[in-house]
Amino acid sequence: MFYKLFRVYPAFSLLFVLVLCGCSAKQTTTETETETEEELTERAQAIHERVLTLDTHADTPLRMIEPGFDMAERHDPRETGSKVDYPRMIEGGLDAIFFAAFVAQDIRDDDGNTRAKALCLQMIDSIVTSTEKNADIVGLAINPDDAYALEKAGKRAIYIGIENGYPIGQDLSNIELYFEKGVRYITLVHSANNDLADSATDPNGPEHGGISAFGEEVVKEMNRLGIMVDVSHGNDSVFYDAVAMSQAPIIASHSNARVVTDHERNMTDEMLKLMAENGGVVQLTMLADYLREAPPNAERDSAMAELRATMSSISEMTDEDRAALRQSFQEINEKFPNPPATVEHVADHIDHIVEVAGIDHVGIGCDFDGGGGIEGVFDASEVMNITVELVKRGYSEEEIEKIWGGNLIRVFKEVQAVAEQIQSSATS
Ligand SMILES: [Zn+2]
Repeated sequence: MFYKLFRVYPAFSLLFVLVLCGCSAKQTTTETETETEEELTERAQAIHERVLTLDTHADTPLRMIEPGFDMAERHDPRETGSKVDYPRMIEGGLDAIFFAAFVAQDIRDDDGNTRAKALCLQMIDSIVTSTEKNADIVGLAINPDDAYALEKAGKRAIYIGIENGYPIGQDLSNIELYFEKGVRYITLVHSANNDLADSATDPNGPEHGGISAFGEEVVKEMNRLGIMVDVSHGNDSVFYDAVAMSQAPIIASHSNARVVTDHERNMTDEMLKLMAENGGVVQLTMLADYLREAPPNAERDSAMAELRATMSSISEMTDEDRAALRQSFQEINEKFPNPPATVEHVADHIDHIVEVAGIDHVGIGCDFDGGGGIEGVFDASEVMNITVELVKRGYSEEEIEKIWGGNLIRVFKEVQAVAEQIQSSATS
């Protein structure tokens, strides 16, 4: 399945492609009027360094499980397709990240569920091992405040999420197993329907009318444990169901605004308003197709279709096959390019969400190594350009702090507080 490959080989993204500062006041008119471009960039860099910068979505575990892939090494994103490693997090001033253990949707039977769980655990273990191996520069983060403590210690905070509830299988006890290993959010569904919920992009359309009865049990168990419910990739009904079912605020770990870019993965204004009422947060993503509408490109489409038709399943591919495939995709992309998405597009989406939902309900989830990466914010080393654009548009340090992590941390804390309530009322 193409989506699967797209997720497994981040280079293909080309195809489709925070804290604690008291100085919150907006710049005065005189200041901005006299400020040169260079001064503005310097001011933005200083803000970027002071605030906690937290990216809620990267599929980097897909790379971490590759033999020989070393997170402590700096990779060339254009040569290797890799968008995140520790040197580039440091370079980009990215303080904290959620690495998502992503398992592509496959057959929904006992065998499929067993394989999904094994792969999910392998990815989680690879994250934990990587943080242990690089304990001088990163640390595993479990609770909201860990990000601040690690930042203070000069280390990057590594959180764990799961993208796609498929590895839960039919067994609710798996959720507690994942929680104990450090998982703090689960994206209910991915690009095809699963047993929990309907996908926004399943070619066969919805199956449960949103979240299934089993999915509702999953949401309850996530609430009980203190795992954030992530509605990205779910269809619109999944969002409405999650808001109704979850006792705690929810998140969209990587989604944009549909009024700005008409894509089923993006959220309507009605959803954005309800997200604000819910107290949740929408994390803006750097995926070109969710950021700008591309004009029709028939030659590209047919070249892609031709290549897809020749592809065998990932499990049957050798490393050489994968490299060759990556090369073919890059060639098509160079021959029939789509217009790039830029940091201005990102800020347009942020502006819109702030206008509709308010400054307390927007954040950033780049989707690096899972399709994310645009002109100017191509990999983790370039995330500072988001802050520069926000400063250019007049966002204050206090507002940028909220966008870059404050909002997500607030929701994370509320999710934990709700779990404590649920657990204490169950024992009393
Ligand atoms: Zn995704």
